[in-house]
Amino acid sequence: MAFSTVTVTPQLTTSVWAAPPTAIVLHATAGSTARSSIDHLRSVGLGYHVIIARDGRDTAKTINADGSDPIVYFCTPFANRAAHVGSNVPIEGGGGRIANRCAIGISLANRQNGEAYTAKQIAVLSEIIEHVKVKSSRGTAPIRCRSTARRWPRNTG
Ligand SMILES: [Zn+2]
Repeated sequence: MAFSTVTVTPQLTTSVWAAPPTAIVLHATAGSTARSSIDHLRSVGLGYHVIIARDGRDTAKTINADGSDPIVYFCTPFANRAAHVGSNVPIEGGGGRIANRCAIGISLANRQNGEAYTAKQIAVLSEIIEHVKVKSSRGTAPIRCRSTARRWPRNTG
């Protein structure tokens, strides 16, 4: 399906990979618009590789999304690492490897409070994952997608 892209400048980047990425971690931003999440991530020195907005306007709530093709924000080049997981969190099934050092981070704009994802976000997510897998297969390590999802144990109080 169609989607528009925005390359975020300056990029939310850290260093280059020590080894090609072997995993993808899927996130929700826990914020309103993708733009506001990017601003927040920049202010705290974190970032995803990609954020998929709810629609083409980067609407702040799914309930108000207009059904247009989502904007995909490219925040960190795939050639670089992004700080999208807690600094010492290991990747599941990765033999203790630290997630930020082996995983690409893709996030969906979503408040993570029970808000639904838009159907187009999910469709675009599938395309982005395929894109990342193709890019990775040109390196030495294949991406192995896992379907495990766990809620972040955030303190909602
Ligand atoms: Zn996350």
